[in-house]
Amino acid sequence: MTVRTRFAPSPTGYLHIGGVRTALFNWLFARKHGGQFILRIDDTDQERNVEVALQPILDGFRWLGIDWDEGPEVDGPHAPYYQSRRAERHKQAAQQLLDAGLAYRDYATSEETQAERATAETEKRDYIYSRKWMAETDEQAAPFEAEGRQCVVRLKMPREGKCEFHDLIRGDVSFDWAKEQDHVIQRADGSCLYHLASVVDDADFKISHVIRAAEHLSNTPRQIFIAQSLGYSPPEFAHLPYVAEPGGSAKISKRKLDKYLKNRDFKQLFDHGERIANLIGHHVSADTFNPVIVDFYREVGYLADALVNYLLLLGWSLDDKTEEFTRDEMIQYFSLERVNKAPASFDPQKLSAFQLRQMQQLPIKQKVAMAVPFLQKAGYIASPPSCDTAPKLTRIVEAAGDRIKTAGDILELIEFLVADDQLEFDEKAFEKRVRKDGAIDLLRSFRDVLADVEPFDDETCEAALRSFIELKGIKIGEIIHALRVAVTGKGVGIGMFDALAILGKDSCLARIDRALERV
Ligand code: GLU
Repeated sequence: MTVRTRFAPSPTGYLHIGGVRTALFNWLFARKHGGQFILRIDDTDQERNVEVALQPILDGFRWLGIDWDEGPEVDGPHAPYYQSRRAERHKQAAQQLLDAGLAYRDYATSEETQAERATAETEKRDYIYSRKWMAETDEQAAPFEAEGRQCVVRLKMPREGKCEFHDLIRGDVSFDWAKEQDHVIQRADGSCLYHLASVVDDADFKISHVIRAAEHLSNTPRQIFIAQSLGYSPPEFAHLPYVAEPGGSAKISKRKLDKYLKNRDFKQLFDHGERIANLIGHHVSADTFNPVIVDFYREVGYLADALVNYLLLLGWSLDDKTEEFTRDEMIQYFSLERVNKAPASFDPQKLSAFQLRQMQQLPIKQKVAMAVPFLQKAGYIASPPSCDTAPKLTRIVEAAGDRIKTAGDILELIEFLVADDQLEFDEKAFEKRVRKDGAIDLLRSFRDVLADVEPFDDETCEAALRSFIELKGIKIGEIIHALRVAVTGKGVGIGMFDALAILGKDSCLARIDRALERV
């Protein structure tokens, strides 16, 4: 049997991290077994423009390196992979079920079914439709039609026994058929509903394994019933636990951003992202700029590999120690047996740790390459960059070390360099470090020392400062903070001597003069 898995997003306009986790597991399972991973678009209930609402999802997957063998933009032997374009096929299947007596036309009005439901509620029993307005033949339908009633098509579900199946994650599962409703599969206007469409598409696309979110577990009995009624052998099922919110157990949702921002770690992750977005000058839209959505990570300059690695461990583990996996290793080791049954909560701190670790392993050249588009977006460097940009940038990235946690961090670190004459001083830092007794005089004398430093590189600057403090009999802290604020405008940043050397003597002296004038 060829393994064929699918991820079936609705075109919502964004890619949810929980969705990515589901897609990733489908992708890994297919890759591991030499099978295919298919993207199917569940767009039957779409009011918005499907192409527009799908693009961020496809872009997100491309960025993450989760490729699909069949689906939108790549097509394949079963195209189209859009549910809405397969309406005729779904109608045919509904007819097949009617012909086989496994579905029926139902002429009840919604008032009538609601009344039945209400009676069941007062009598404190489970509601199950009486089938009073059911028509299985044209003769039965005739009087209802004569009354001018309209019909929907419902499944004629079994009323006794159990639906039993083996879920690859949850083990043996069993549902009472008697608790299942006669679900509607076709509306009065002839259009078919999701469950029918999904089963038909899965069968037509030869999907072998349906790996999806746990919330679909309760849909499985009706889908198995549809599949068997149409003569298909149902696929294997694996229902994944959902990704839970930070510090909680409820399913993570993009709509609860305000709540999550009360979680310290989540807020830190978000604030960091917002600072970078502001530096780029992006209009940050709450609709997409949200750590529950993949776009956030791309905009802030995370490594797709770090995010994927983190999401993999949010529901799967190889053992209790291995944390880092290359893509090849993920494919090699992945198995559904090792998927956790319980939801795992999204842990921003752990994600940041993965990001930092992978960033540390990245060659400088690659870090620089990652930084360039951010600098271009912020208007700090030209596109394409001028030829002296790369060496300077390499220098800064090297000097920044772990301060570059995501590619976007370059913007905060480089601000001091590009600002030059317009350098703005961080008011608080300026008050605390420069505008204070002693600091001004020290700064003034060290300015004269710096004027004579030759060559103006980090080592010579450092040596000059060291002999300066010795001569004055002071501690390094008494001068270096003031110097940093004067030269870079801020209280924190890359190594002081690197900053001096990168800026060059003229700039440094001019900036110290400006700071002194300001006092
Ligand atoms: N479009 C459905 C969803 O997003 C897919 C359900 C399934 O995987 O069967 O939840």
